Amino acid sequence: MTTTDTKTFGLVGLGAMGYPMAQNLARKAPDTAKLVVYDLSTKAIEDLYAEYPEKVVKGESAEDVFRQADIIITMLPEGKHVRSVYIGSGTNLKTVNLKDKILIDSSTIDVETSLAVKAHITQIEPSASFYDAPVSGGVEGAAKGTLAFYIGIEENDPNFPIVQAATRLMGDENKIIPCGKASLGLVAKISHNYLGGVMNVVCCETMNLGIRAGLDPKMLYRVLVAGAARNPLIEHGNCVPGLVSSAPSSNDYKPGFKASLMAKDMSLALQMAETYKSDLVLGSPAIDLYRKALPDLGDYDFTALYRLFEEQKVKSSS
Ligand code: NAD
Repeated sequence: MTTTDTKTFGLVGLGAMGYPMAQNLARKAPDTAKLVVYDLSTKAIEDLYAEYPEKVVKGESAEDVFRQADIIITMLPEGKHVRSVYIGSGTNLKTVNLKDKILIDSSTIDVETSLAVKAHITQIEPSASFYDAPVSGGVEGAAKGTLAFYIGIEENDPNFPIVQAATRLMGDENKIIPCGKASLGLVAKISHNYLGGVMNVVCCETMNLGIRAGLDPKMLYRVLVAGAARNPLIEHGNCVPGLVSSAPSSNDYKPGFKASLMAKDMSLALQMAETYKSDLVLGSPAIDLYRKALPDLGDYDFTALYRLFEEQKVKSSS
């Protein structure tokens, strides 16, 4: 099977990420292909159908999507939602013929849930294939179709060409990365976001330190971008408003990547470290900061953490 042969794609979860991913699928899938979609929000289904009536088929349930489609992508918030759609109360996949179907879960969830879903699918239908394929690039990347996909698949897996072709419809072809066996896509994504989450704390601390000690913010920016500590968060996503016009900070911290999602991914990293007995020194204080920021800043970009430093709220009791 190739994507050109694929008659029907499916997508469950038309939220901030899933909706623009579905738009890209509807735009780029072969003319003869259909896209069956489902979300708990009927409005999201109706809106997508209104945009692409010739391509989109309104699914009646998640189960209906699995029944009608050959390649199904799920884009759901957390492990419990993924479990509900694949195993639990949300569907009964045992009643669906999953023969030869390819199931791609792009949600950022814990490794244990993903492996449990894979085992469940294999038990129901051994010819069906389930892959973890979380993404990076945010809502903007989803809209532009430039997402990175970290896939729990071996490069020599016979399904890799079709998974690669399907994810290319939503992502940057140079960033479709086969990370190895099942769950390693999630390991990659969670490791990546751990680094981003901790780096953000250090960038906020550094900007605050230099500015409080008297450096002009623009001068500090110039120095950091010229030096060895240069990194994309300082250079492109700088947390101090007014330094980089395209950064969320210069747009009232409009996300970007929400602080609440970063807090979720940092918890996944801590959970993964516990499971794999990997010491994390900076993880606990970093997640405490995100949790402290959540009530006020959860819906803002994660670089809005800077406000805690700016307002000297970091050390106040939580
Ligand atoms: P979201 O909350 O905006 O969307 C999730 C969608 O899933 C909602 O529309 C919801 O109605 C739907 N849903 C929940 N349970 C369902 C069910 N049982 N059946 C059908 N639909 C159901 O979340 P999002 O921002 O799109 O994120 C999705 C995943 O992608 C998360 O795991 C997140 O961590 C990850 N992610 C998000 C971003 C980002 O910038 N938003 C970036 C990278 C990765």
